[in-house]
This record gives sequence, structure tokens and C-alpha cells, in this order.
Amino acid sequence: MEKIDELFEKMREGVRNAPVAVKEIKEAGHPVVGMYCTVTPWELIYAAGGVTVSLCSTSEKPIAAAEQHLPRNLCPLIKSSYGFALTDTCPYFHFCDIVIGETTCDGKKKMYELLNALRPTHVMQLPQTTEHAKSLELWKHEVIKLKEVLEERFGASITDEKLTSAIRLKNSLNAAALRFYDLAALPDAVVSGKEIMLVSDYIKFTFNYEEAIANVNALTDILIDAYKNGVRRISASKRILITGCPMGKSLEKVVDAIEAPENSAVVVGFENCGNLKCTHYKVREDIPPLDAIAEKYLSIPCSVMSPNRERTELIRHYIKKYNAAGVADVILQACHTYNVESYSVRTALASEGIPYIAVETDYSQGDVGQLATRFGAFAEML
Ligand code: SF4
Ligand code: SF4
Repeated sequence: MEKIDELFEKMREGVRNAPVAVKEIKEAGHPVVGMYCTVTPWELIYAAGGVTVSLCSTSEKPIAAAEQHLPRNLCPLIKSSYGFALTDTCPYFHFCDIVIGETTCDGKKKMYELLNALRPTHVMQLPQTTEHAKSLELWKHEVIKLKEVLEERFGASITDEKLTSAIRLKNSLNAAALRFYDLAALPDAVVSGKEIMLVSDYIKFTFNYEEAIANVNALTDILIDAYKNGVRRISASKRILITGCPMGKSLEKVVDAIEAPENSAVVVGFENCGNLKCTHYKVREDIPPLDAIAEKYLSIPCSVMSPNRERTELIRHYIKKYNAAGVADVILQACHTYNVESYSVRTALASEGIPYIAVETDYSQGDVGQLATRFGAFAEML
């Protein structure tokens, strides 16, 4: 148990020290590339000798500043991200040489137009469907364009060899993450939802990738051994799968509300970006690298895609694999795509008798009481 706590603490420390790590990377002369979305091809940036930093912000602090330029009725993730950039209070944005945006939801793609005045922003044009014969071709064209932008900006040559080794590294990182997430396939829960969020954050904010792979695998090994020896760290038995908008620090309040001791509930997985939505899909290693990269990133089942059938399939897959008793859909205020899609997810799960709850929230702490009441009632019916 001591070793488990030690590894979790090491990961907490890694997340805390990430801003200093980025500063050192920058001072060592490596390009720092910011991104906001899971569809951004990490492998291209790595192959260009750069480091990718995730700029998706989850704090309400800079939202007031952002609202001087952006409408109030906009998703908090967009306002928070733009607010940090505008006030130059995000260390990751501060050290970015370039930002890679993407045409996902309307709010985000229009925000990038303003962001370009603060930092050079290259926007990838994401097709909004996987069902059109030309989508993959168009997206591959965007992947090639990004390759050229990075090569020109950083004087790099992104060869197939470099891409292949970047793909292998990222696949190994995702495999280590997935192996840890898959602990939820064991009959009793091994870790809490908050601990899963910590590991996801650690993976996102650690730039020594080999070390991250080793630490996550070591943690998983120790947890499996402890489980085999009869250790049960989590007593809660009502297993809940989270889906919806990306989950960040400010949304820990949702997990806290679910995992309140009186509910006897535990979050066993997150079918969200930054978690299973990223790690479930591998970049193929048996086809040319640019084709493989284009294929993987287009296949991510984000609600901006239409139709987006694969998301429901992914949710079903993890309900079964993690033996979830219910699904909680976490939707950020003014996120129209996830909000509208909530009906389809609810209907699909209802037809199979799977309990479902949708909550709309933001980054404030104003609804903590309401979340506790709603999840209390949901847990009771499981
Ligand atoms: S939810 Fe959609 S827009 Fe948001 S990070 Fe994921 S893929 Fe990108
Ligand atoms: S949570 Fe929704 S509205 Fe916000 S950035 Fe993501 S897709 Fe756009």
C-alpha cells in the first residue's frame, strides 16, 4: 500500500512540476506546441522535435477576462482557455511557439481566430463526418499541411522513420494508460475515479514519456499484485462510467459528488477525451505513417461529428468491459453538440435498461450541492 501511495504522490508531483518542465524544455531549445483537442496528431509534433502541451483549461479564474472578448453564453472550456491566453497566466501557453487548432465545435473554431492575434495559430480543417468517401482524403491533406507547417517553422525534416518511432512511442504510452484504466475490468474496483483522473493528468503533463510509461506500468503491476493478495482499496460497489465533455480539475466536483461515501458509488472509467476516447484507438503500425495518423485521429468519436454512432458503441463496450451499473453524461454549459447528443445516448442506453443521468455544469463550485443531490438519487436507484 505504501508503494502505491508513493507512486500516486510521484504523479501528483509530476503534474505540479509540469510548468517548470516546460520552461526547461523551452530553454533547451525544443519547440513547444500547444493544442486544445484530441484530434491533434501528437506524433507529427514529436517527429518535428517538439513537445506537445495541452492547453484545454479547466479553471474559472480567467473567464471574466475572456468575457471581454467572447460571449458569456459560451462553453467554459473555450472561455477559460482563451482567458488564460489573454491574461498570459497559463505557463504552457506562455512558452508555446505555435498553437494547433482544429475546426471542431463552432465556439472553439471562432475563438482560434481571436487567439491568432496572441500566438500564431494553425487551424486544421476537420471533416465533420467519417461517412463521406472523401473525408479521410481531406483529413490526410490537413495532416500533410500540418507536417509542412511544422517543418517550415522549426526547420525540421519529418521523415517516415521519425514518424514511425513517434507512433510506437505514443502507442506505448496509450497502451500503458489503457492497461491502468482496464483495472476496472476486475470484479472489485481497484482505484477511485479521482485516482484515474490523476493518472490521466500525469500522462498529459509528463514530458519524459519513457519515465511516464514505466511509472504507470509499475503502478498497475503493484495494484494487480495487491488485488491478487486480497487487498481491496475501494469498498464502494455501484460502478459508474462517465462520458461527455473533457473532464479537468474543476470537474473533480462531479467525481466527488458520485463518490461521496453515502452513495457507495465509484467511477470505474471515463469515456472522455484525455482518457478512453484517446487510448482506445491505436495508430496502426502496418500502413504508411501519415495514412495511419490520419485514420486514427479522424476516427475519434467526438460529438462534433455527424453522425457519431461510434461514441455509443464505445460507451457500450466499456459498460460491458468495466461492468458499469450506470452512465453519467457530464456536459459543459453551452456545449451544444454534447448536449444534443445526450438524447441519442440516453435513448440507446434506455433500450438496454442501463440507468443514465445527464448533468450540465460549469467550472464554478456553485452547483456542488445540486450535484450531490442528483448523484445521491441516481446512486440510490442503481
Ligand atoms: S470533445 Fe471533441 S472537441 Fe473536445 S477535445 Fe475531444 S475531440 Fe476535441
Ligand atoms: S466541451 Fe463542447 S463546446 Fe466546449 S470546446 Fe468541447 S465540444 Fe466545444
